[in-house]
Amino acid sequence: MKIKSVELFRHDLPVRGGPYKMANAEVWSLQTTLVKLTADNGLTGWGETCPVGPTYAEAYSGGAQAALQQIAPALIGQDVRPLTIGRLMNGQLNGHNYAKAAIDIAVHDLLGKHLGLRVADLLGGVAAERVPSYYATGVGAPEEIASIAAEKRDEGYPRLQIKMSGKDVERDIETIRRVWDKIAGSGMRLAVDGNRGWTTRDALRVSRECPDIPFILEQPCNRIEDLEKIRPQIHHGLYMDENGVDLATVIRAAGRGLVDGFGMKVTRIGGLLQMAAFRDICEAVSLPHTCDDAWGGDIIAAACTHVAATVKPSLLEGVWLAEPMIEGSYSIGEGVRIRDGHIALPQGPGLGVEPDETLFGTAMASF
Ligand SMILES: [Mg+2]
Repeated sequence: MKIKSVELFRHDLPVRGGPYKMANAEVWSLQTTLVKLTADNGLTGWGETCPVGPTYAEAYSGGAQAALQQIAPALIGQDVRPLTIGRLMNGQLNGHNYAKAAIDIAVHDLLGKHLGLRVADLLGGVAAERVPSYYATGVGAPEEIASIAAEKRDEGYPRLQIKMSGKDVERDIETIRRVWDKIAGSGMRLAVDGNRGWTTRDALRVSRECPDIPFILEQPCNRIEDLEKIRPQIHHGLYMDENGVDLATVIRAAGRGLVDGFGMKVTRIGGLLQMAAFRDICEAVSLPHTCDDAWGGDIIAAACTHVAATVKPSLLEGVWLAEPMIEGSYSIGEGVRIRDGHIALPQGPGLGVEPDETLFGTAMASF
């Protein structure tokens, strides 16, 4: 089975009740980029990449679209094999993992359909048919975030992530305390996500003033050097998210004991093949992690869920999906949904979701 054509589509994903607020960004609608691979036997595979605005990471939708157009011509006539295609892409363009990931996801979808296997089986085998999700609040007033925490606790989410503002640390500490008042004793775990927004001074203060609350600190400051600086002085587990841009960084952070876990994004690390390697590194050194992405529709949601289903359950921190934040869906059928704080692994070969292509309009580029 060889790749016969590549088509790229753009599609807007409006934020439900927007905007969604993070320390460094506020978004009303996100433009996602979809890749459709068609093979010489007529089967199709879909991939997606959707950076959450232009400031969350060194990635944005216009960059993804340019990178995909640079790579796509070289895919024509190639065998549908994730490792081979991954190396081929690296020979076409340096970096741009978030764009390559869309092709990698489409290759896995296509290969799974061809072999009659779910993507989770291609990635090594299913450890759980239902995986835990977690809810991430936006930045908001302490009482507002506390009331969301109570609501999500009651909905059955096993984990909550609260976003810090990075501007007023007293308010951040008040938010953490009010949230903990709502969820303490419920079994719900808490992640406090700075999204790179705190200074090391503020991150140290948060940890020092909340020694009684067992949260993990996720990417509190901007740089790896900042994490190194606070690491010996904090009372809380430290997770890396935005700084974990590739496997080499993950290996360094894990090998030096810099972190206690990771928030990991499928497209940031380059797709499902890289994500499976990341999973295995984490299992080798007993580090928990998430399997999610910064944003995206049902293709991204399915990709995250398939790889999460292969993770040793005791090390899986959960799968965040943008689904509750997005108005509408592009899928035929139900797509990937969170129920009682958990996600069922899609059935059927490949990713197990099929987009309604008519919603995407004319392809922005075809090869
Ligand atoms: Mg994060």
